[in-house]
Amino acid sequence: MNRLVISNLTKTYANGVKALDNVSIEIENGMFGLLGPNGAGKSTLMRTLATLQEADKGTAMLNNIDILNQPAELRKTLGYLPQEFGVYSKITAEQLLNHLAILKGIVNNKERKELVRYLLDKVNLYDKRNKSVKGFSGGMKQRVGIAQSLIGNPNLIIVDEPTAGLDPGERNRFYNLLADVGKEVIVILSTHIVDDVRELCTNMAVMNAGQIVYKGTPQNAIDELHGMVYQKVVARDELEEYASKYSIISNKMVGGKPLIHIFNESNPNEGFELVKPNLEDVFFSKINTTHSLV
Ligand code: ADP
Repeated sequence: MNRLVISNLTKTYANGVKALDNVSIEIENGMFGLLGPNGAGKSTLMRTLATLQEADKGTAMLNNIDILNQPAELRKTLGYLPQEFGVYSKITAEQLLNHLAILKGIVNNKERKELVRYLLDKVNLYDKRNKSVKGFSGGMKQRVGIAQSLIGNPNLIIVDEPTAGLDPGERNRFYNLLADVGKEVIVILSTHIVDDVRELCTNMAVMNAGQIVYKGTPQNAIDELHGMVYQKVVARDELEEYASKYSIISNKMVGGKPLIHIFNESNPNEGFELVKPNLEDVFFSKINTTHSLV
């Protein structure tokens, strides 16, 4: 069992933005979802764990490796899939993986050849191994990204906003692949897409303004809201009034009219209907975006 222990990690950028504010979390094997809106500090946290940037304060330990002080040790056991993967896009999938395996220190030709074959097969791209990565769809590029992140048998795999730009079919294939990979290692999936976490993650944290505002299982978070989420279709010009009276957690257009979800301890009896909370309600209630929704 791998264990990642992050304690009081803090980072303020030169412009004064506090991107990490005393972040503490413990993560074990399996798929862990880090959910947060844009600007929450997810990438800063992922990049710090991937040893691509430094923190001002705090510690992060992966098993016995002190990530901030032993970056070279960490990199040996890290798989990292950044937001945009496509740097070496003019070469074939096989050449790319071969090249990255050399960079990761797999110098034995036979061993490397077998590994590349195994990886191509694992991500279902063996048939496409001689095609240029440049012509690949977004989903295929992400699968190459996963393949390269597996080189060197990592204990920690970090995947930063991986599903942006994928169509539903590609997203599904990618989910299946990640779920398969995530059984015996720690996979941290950073995303602003609630579906990614719902479909894949056994544990999660919600991040907002540099802080962890929830950690636990997706189901516990949903249970906490039980009996407290109500919905109603309202007229567009009534939105402001409702926003001043209630704590609106989401606002979606349905058939041209806003369908609002509110957080309330009891039924306000103004035509509201109790709904079964979902992970989206959790997300919006934790990040408290009430004021920006109308
Ligand atoms: P997320 O990945 O959740 O969108 P980021 O970690 O990218 O969040 O950003 C967190 C905050 O830090 C944002 O306000 C962002 O503008 C700011 N930020 C990120 N990178 C830098 C940087 N290199 N210099 C200054 N501010 C930054």
